[in-house]
This record gives sequence, C-alpha cells and structure tokens, in this order.
Amino acid sequence: MPLPRLTLALSLALALAPATQAAAESTSQAMPETMDMLKHAIAAQTVEGKGQVPPFASYLAGKLESAGFAKTDIEIIPVGNTAALVVHYRGSDSGRKPILLSAHMDVVAANPADWQRDPFKLVEENGYLYGRGVADMKTNVIALVETMMRFKREHFVPSRGMILVFSGDEETDMASTRELAKRYHDAEFLLNADAGGGTYDANLKPVVYEIQAAEKTYADFTLTVTSPGGHSSEPEPSKNAIYRLAKALGRVAAYQFPVQHSDITLASLKATGEHGSGPLAKAMRRFAAHPDDAKAAAVISADPAYVGQIRTTCIATMLDGGHALNALPQRADANINCRIFPGDSVADVQATLAKVIADPSVAISVKAPPPVESPASPLRPDVFKAVAATIHERYPGVEVVPGMSAGASDSMYFRNAGVPCYGVDPTFSKPDDTFAHGLNEKLLATEVPAALDFWHGLLTRLAK
Ligand SMILES: [Zn+2]
Repeated sequence: MPLPRLTLALSLALALAPATQAAAESTSQAMPETMDMLKHAIAAQTVEGKGQVPPFASYLAGKLESAGFAKTDIEIIPVGNTAALVVHYRGSDSGRKPILLSAHMDVVAANPADWQRDPFKLVEENGYLYGRGVADMKTNVIALVETMMRFKREHFVPSRGMILVFSGDEETDMASTRELAKRYHDAEFLLNADAGGGTYDANLKPVVYEIQAAEKTYADFTLTVTSPGGHSSEPEPSKNAIYRLAKALGRVAAYQFPVQHSDITLASLKATGEHGSGPLAKAMRRFAAHPDDAKAAAVISADPAYVGQIRTTCIATMLDGGHALNALPQRADANINCRIFPGDSVADVQATLAKVIADPSVAISVKAPPPVESPASPLRPDVFKAVAATIHERYPGVEVVPGMSAGASDSMYFRNAGVPCYGVDPTFSKPDDTFAHGLNEKLLATEVPAALDFWHGLLTRLAK
C-alpha cells in the first residue's frame, strides 16, 4: 500500500533526522517487552548452586546488544559458579565520573511444594504479580535493563556515563559483589535498586518514600568457654563451661548499647513519627526533636522493629556445648549477632562485649568472614532533589526521607570502597506485603510501569 504523501514526508524527515533527535518512547510502549523479559527472569532459577546466573546474564546481554549496545560495552565476569554483569552506557563528558546502577540477579531458594503457585512462573492475579524474585529483585533488574535499551533506542547521550553493576550472589556469599566493588569504585555515586522504596497504607495510599543512605555493619562474635571436663558424677560448678557461658550470656542479655543518632536516623524517625499515632509515634517525634530524651529512647528501644534505629544491637543466635550426657563439658560456644551503628567499629563492639561479660576466661572472637564496615553516605542534595522530583511525578507531595537499614546489601562493599550509595527501589508496597525471601513472594502489578517511569525520569535528571 502506497503511503500518503504527508506520512511519507514525515517518515523521511524522521529517517533523515540526526540520531540525537530520535523520538522518545512511552512507558506503555516499553511494557510488552518488559513483561516478556520479566517472565523469562522469573523462570530463570538463579538460586544458589544451580549455575543459572551466567545464562541469565547472557540473556540480558543479548537483549542489550539487540538494542544497540556494543559487545565491548558488555562484560560478564565469572565468579565461581555465578557471575556479575557489567554494562557501560557511555557519557559525552569523560571528565565526569560515572553513576553506578546496582542490582542482583540471584534469588533466595524456593521450594515449589510449599508455594501456592509455581515459584518460577510469573503469575498475575488480583492486581499482584507472583513469583520468586518478583519483589527481590528481578522486576528492578528488568526495569533497569529495559531503561538502558530505551535510552539507546532514543539515542539519549548523557554527559555522565552510567554503569550497570549486577551481582550474582548477593543473597549468599557476595563474592561477585566484592569483585564489582574492587573494579568499579571510581564512581560519582551508586544507586541501588535493592534498598529504600515507598510505603503504602492499607488503602494503597502512598505514605512515605525512603532513600537508604546508610546501613548497619553486620558482625558475628563467637563466645568460647573451655573447662577440663571429667565425669559428671564429680561436678565442679564454678569451673563448668556451660555455667560460665550462661552467665556471660545473661550479662549480654541485660546490656543495652548507648543511644546514638545521625542526620539520617533523625529524619527517618521524624517522618515515621509524623505518619503514625500512639505512644511509639509520639516517642519518635520527641526523639527526633531531642535525641537526649531518655524516656523517648526507652519507648523506641522497647519495639524490636525500631530499637536498631537508635542503638547498636547484639543478640545471641546460636548455642553449642558439651559432648556427652554423662560428661562434664570441655567446651561451650555461643554466637552473638550484632548490627553496628555506622561510625562504630567492630573492635569497639568487641571491647564493649568483653567489658560487659567481665570474665577473661570467656574468649570473644570475630567470626569469619571479616565484617565490612560501611560508613553512612552523605545526604547529597542533587541526588535527593532528583529522586524527590521523580517520585513526585507519580505521587505529588509524598515525603521523601533518608533512612538507615539493618544491612547488608551490595552497597556495603561500595560504601566501604568510598562510593556514596543510595538505595532507591522505585516500588511501593504495603508493610510486610511482599514476602521477599518468603513464600508466595508478590508485587503490585502497578509497580512495573512505575519502575520504568522512575528509572527513565531519575537517570535523565542525574546523568544528562
Ligand atoms: Zn535483594
């Protein structure tokens, strides 16, 4: 069929237009390809030990190549039986450091027998998408890849380069993350799609959006007590390794680390307090205004979900001791898991535990692998402004606040290497609604186009 003249002229004009003027694509145009890739992503069983991360990384690489990425700008780094994927989107100003875009391609194991639906099949039901990784975090993996493909098709030329740094074992060893942080730490900042995010109330009204700017340091300490042992018919209670360990644990249980705060935690508690009601919300508002208010700190500390926001916390998680029912123990061990407030060192916490236990016969050692200390990232106004502007395009007026999480995301290795990191998961969810790591993981279907809008809008603002 011959084209009408006007259409012909128009298509000629488009064909002759310089590459930089390629038409912008809409999010709805990008959705079919996105859902198709997400279906593939959920079916890829990228759990520990199955060796499925490298083929999944190759699949993503193939998609990016088909959108115009040069082979030389895509790198798959094998690490053990997993892999990392690195993709360069070149900027025009080589004097400006690039932005790193972090996500992980692996997922937590899922036993199909326990799930209501096949965990490795993308299913949409009643407004939700179901499948392992739909929330943590294949939707964002695909949304980032689709956004890069869309930019390429639009001939977008940023002044600042962007580098996708996708890890392949974030949920387990993080060896691929360490490799990425070793190679790519000369960057302006990193945006992590696996932290931060928006909260809906029960009626799906947006409440608040959090940018993760800090995370606590994860550390395990082993307490070990030994005694000579012997026959249980000849007891010596004062030397008994189990009794001495129990006493040490009692002292740890009774101890609270001092109250601490940062710009990040005060802003986050203020926002949480203002959106809630009741004694806890009131205590948060008081603490945000007066961090030396001991009564407010006590109320917050009594809530397991928030105590970690104002203190380093340590808690016993494992116990092992003795070798026979009728023998005196020769050894007793316990594991103490700590989440250390950014700024405190692992050595400080170890010294505090020794002081609290006050028994030199209790050996305290740091469990391998060595903890990675992760400083809080500065609250960069350019990043916060760009994220707020992007969120406000979807939800005008929603408060955007910094936050600190309990750790440990891929950001910890990059922060440790000196890169400021910001967790900016574009999706909103109701508290405890996604079941990330758990059974029947789900995500509101509305969050997929929202993620495409978000990455396109945010990266245009930050990289242009
Ligand atoms: Zn994750």
